[in-house]
Amino acid sequence: MTMIVDIDNAQDSIGLDLDELERLFRTALQSLGLAQADLSVRLVEEGEIARLNERFLGVSGPTDVLAFPQLELQPSDPAGVPFQEALASLPPNGVVALGDIAICPKLASRDLETGSKIQKESTAQGPEDERAMASALVGASPGPEGPESQLHLVSIHGLLHLLGHDHHDLASARLMAAAQTRLLRQVSDCRVLLAEGAKGSQAPRPAAPQEPTCGCVERSGFVALVGRPNVGKSTLMNRLIGSKVSIVSKKPQTTRNRLLGIVTQGNAQVVFIDTPGIHRSKDSFNRRLVDTALRSLREADLICVMLEPSEVVGPEERMVIQSVVAAGNPAMLLINKVDRVQKKNRLLPIIEALSALAHWEEVFPISALKGTNLQPLMRSIQKRLPKGPPLFPLDQLTDVSERFLVAERVREKIFQMTRQEIPYATAVEVTGWQEEKGLLRIAAKIFVERASQKGIVIGKGGAMLKKIGTAARKDLESFFACKVYLELHVAVSEGWRQSDTFLGRQRIV
Ligand code: GDP
Ligand code: MG
Repeated sequence: MTMIVDIDNAQDSIGLDLDELERLFRTALQSLGLAQADLSVRLVEEGEIARLNERFLGVSGPTDVLAFPQLELQPSDPAGVPFQEALASLPPNGVVALGDIAICPKLASRDLETGSKIQKESTAQGPEDERAMASALVGASPGPEGPESQLHLVSIHGLLHLLGHDHHDLASARLMAAAQTRLLRQVSDCRVLLAEGAKGSQAPRPAAPQEPTCGCVERSGFVALVGRPNVGKSTLMNRLIGSKVSIVSKKPQTTRNRLLGIVTQGNAQVVFIDTPGIHRSKDSFNRRLVDTALRSLREADLICVMLEPSEVVGPEERMVIQSVVAAGNPAMLLINKVDRVQKKNRLLPIIEALSALAHWEEVFPISALKGTNLQPLMRSIQKRLPKGPPLFPLDQLTDVSERFLVAERVREKIFQMTRQEIPYATAVEVTGWQEEKGLLRIAAKIFVERASQKGIVIGKGGAMLKKIGTAARKDLESFFACKVYLELHVAVSEGWRQSDTFLGRQRIV
């Protein structure tokens, strides 16, 4: 099943449970027989929805929901399945891109007091039938009461617009109202609105928030994330565990170690192994990274192979797949970065081409960056793990120390701020750690291979080192939720990449 519901929360006025909102849309699509649909939902502030109205509809002023259908569908059936015929002409098993919905939750929940914008929208155009139309659309809706019900209403209303429904006249409004009532009943148990006072957040939310567990873990196992450098392995792992354990950068080969990310949720403990990318290399340092990745394959109960969404498979991808097949463990295919595929109908041929490359337990198109399709992925992974007790304490997120995480965070900033060979020539070690009341004092040493590199990392008048330090400190303060004092030094350690002792200390095993 390849249902994609991509929710992008670009507002923080109203605290929403995005998982529940996703469930609402999934339930509605499922009940419409649209298991292969792709839908984008953007939650916006008042100003943004007003701008969208102005830009796309030429209307000034905000409404609480706007729909941008991708297909031209005609509602014709009061049972609420007007699009079945049109959809039947699309390729079988294809992902049907329905389009985008923009919702302003602030206006939607405020409408309860002021009268719904959906209502205003229809009353504005109707002559004598206006009241009937309005009451058909916003009349007694099944399900929850209050602002929650408004959010349900605008969501389903927007979805129906994508499916060709409209309310130009009484007949079409009645048709839409019938479909709307039926769907609202289906989704009535979704609780989208967070408790009063809770604010939504723009920060990327973990796709699978860590739930308190009751100590009754029944399944556990290792899941290796493998793929060529830069495919998004670290991004996915951080997203799944809901915390930044692995460093991410646009440059390949950022991850040097085998890192564990632990998600204990429901009755399963999934231990992800984020590996350095598998790639061809003659350099002994890089060979070491590849060996680490290959070893992870043999240790894993399940392998998640990550590929980019392209029909063309290069020699590096083939090497990854060959290694997985050779390891002989069950494997899933994750096609990452689907947010980059502009035309959604381009996705199907890609899924087909990549699915044919090996025997996959399951294939998931995902976006690690946006969080698309990660919950179904997690459920499928949990289901496939062997029965057994937890492998780590239930509240543990990773197997590495806080010191290591700090060193990695500094290294991430170096990767982001310096160029050419510098990122690859640096290693970071935490040399001092002191916890005081409300303050964490950390000292770290940045090792480079040559004196010339030292100059670059320090920068003119220490400017670069200051920039690296400030960015890392800010990150660490939010990670540890306390004030951090970070002292950085740069030292030259010629040939550290070849030193076993050094690499051992750096956990590059
Ligand atoms: P790794 O080398 O496989 O661990 O890859 P990283 O996780 O470090 O990611 C490499 C780059 O790809 C970073 O710039 C990420 O932000 C980006 N990236 C990862 N996942 C996605 C995704 O789903 N969509 C997009 N557009 N970019 C992504
Ligand atoms: Mg990585």
